[in-house]
Amino acid sequence: MSEQRIAVCPGSFDPITLGHEDIIRRSLRFADRVIVGVAYSATHVKQGMFEVDERVQMIRETFADEPAVEAVSFQGLLVEFAKAQGAAMIVRGLRAVSDFEYEFQMALMNRRLWEPMETVFLAPDLEHLYLSSSLVRQIASLGGDVSPFVPPPVLQRLTARFGGGASS
Ligand code: ADP
Repeated sequence: MSEQRIAVCPGSFDPITLGHEDIIRRSLRFADRVIVGVAYSATHVKQGMFEVDERVQMIRETFADEPAVEAVSFQGLLVEFAKAQGAAMIVRGLRAVSDFEYEFQMALMNRRLWEPMETVFLAPDLEHLYLSSSLVRQIASLGGDVSPFVPPPVLQRLTARFGGGASS
């Protein structure tokens, strides 16, 4: 059995923001490896901007400097994905009290589904408290500058799609 501490960071990452990057890098303070799981589901009606493969690719490019971070897509139950990855720890970011109720419910349910499953909540840097992928999508699609909010691989794609307004 591996002695490595493996954490799973699940989410939609549509696209990854500096808030996500902050949480993932912080996880490396207590995990040896972090597996970023990009969740997709045929039954999930949430509208996406990027295809799942491209979300994974943007995460890989963002962490090109960090071999301890991997990105993969997954479908189905998070606990099954975590088990398959050899991880008994989920890391989630908490931005506001409003995130708490849902996150707490998910954490308890995931542990109910698989008893060893623990969830760790991390607070982001204050600078990222108000950041969300949905706001980034909205601002970029309206021609706003999202360069302070996303890593370079995301900015490149948003600029290609929506024009220079995303970066100038
Ligand atoms: P989901 O659709 O599951 O909420 P997201 O991709 O939006 O997935 O987020 C994945 C994780 O990153 C969640 O734990 C979320 O709370 C966290 N997160 C998102 N944005 C930020 C941010 N700006 N600061 C800290 N954590 C964040």
